[in-house]
Amino acid sequence: MTAPVIELRGLSKTYRLGQHVVPALQHVDLVVRPGEMLALTGPSGSGKSTLLNIAGLIDKPDAGEVVLRGRCVTHIGETAAALLRRDAIGFVFQSFNLVPVMTVADNVDYPLFLSGVPAAERRERVAAMLDAVGLADHARHRPDALSGGQRQRVAIARALVKRPTLVIADEPTASLDSHTAEQVLDLMREVGHAQGAAFLVATHDARLLRRCDRVVRLLDGRITHVDTEEEERHERALA
Ligand code: ADP
Ligand code: MG
Repeated sequence: MTAPVIELRGLSKTYRLGQHVVPALQHVDLVVRPGEMLALTGPSGSGKSTLLNIAGLIDKPDAGEVVLRGRCVTHIGETAAALLRRDAIGFVFQSFNLVPVMTVADNVDYPLFLSGVPAAERRERVAAMLDAVGLADHARHRPDALSGGQRQRVAIARALVKRPTLVIADEPTASLDSHTAEQVLDLMREVGHAQGAAFLVATHDARLLRRCDRVVRLLDGRITHVDTEEEERHERALA
């Protein structure tokens, strides 16, 4: 067995709004291995985003541990967390979150610029990534000139260009029509698998779930179901 990319152990998180107490996550355990695409599903409010935010080091649990590539990162400071988010974790969101005043190429280049990658290498990697997501011809366009599916492909290129070990995608296809959604997920998987990245993807969409290696279902902040059939199929595929 390959070493996990991320291990979540006994995660709990409670939100308090005045008198109201919301147990957003309760004792959640999860392991994601290199190259694996794990889907998180469950109704709205079941804790998917809370789990992704903790796994992506955007938020902290009240209890439990986050272990990233064998290193316990639960209690690291904000600066160390920011460096890990910058260098090791790629994010894809429902709303794309592109920078509107930057070209497509500059949006994809930005994480490499922040990481201090030399300019010549950046140009090469950005060009290769835009090619991989089928947007080489749109490098100089601004995001608002693109369709939703194209924008999400830019966001995927931006998330993967830094060759992250972990990609966190929160409802990445929720703003797309179903055909585009399937294309976008397949693309993310293809490019990500080529790099050996692990994926944690929150989605409601049954057709997307079928494209993932393993499905974990959340309800009221607890894991209620792990899709073993998918798991067996994954094992067979690896054998
Ligand atoms: P999902 O992504 O599955 O829709 P969330 O993780 O966003 O679920 O939310 C889980 C629960 O935590 C919900 O009941 C939600 O209302 C609550 N919650 C999430 N974020 C906050 C917050 N910042 N403050 C208060 N409650 C929150
Ligand atoms: Mg959510």
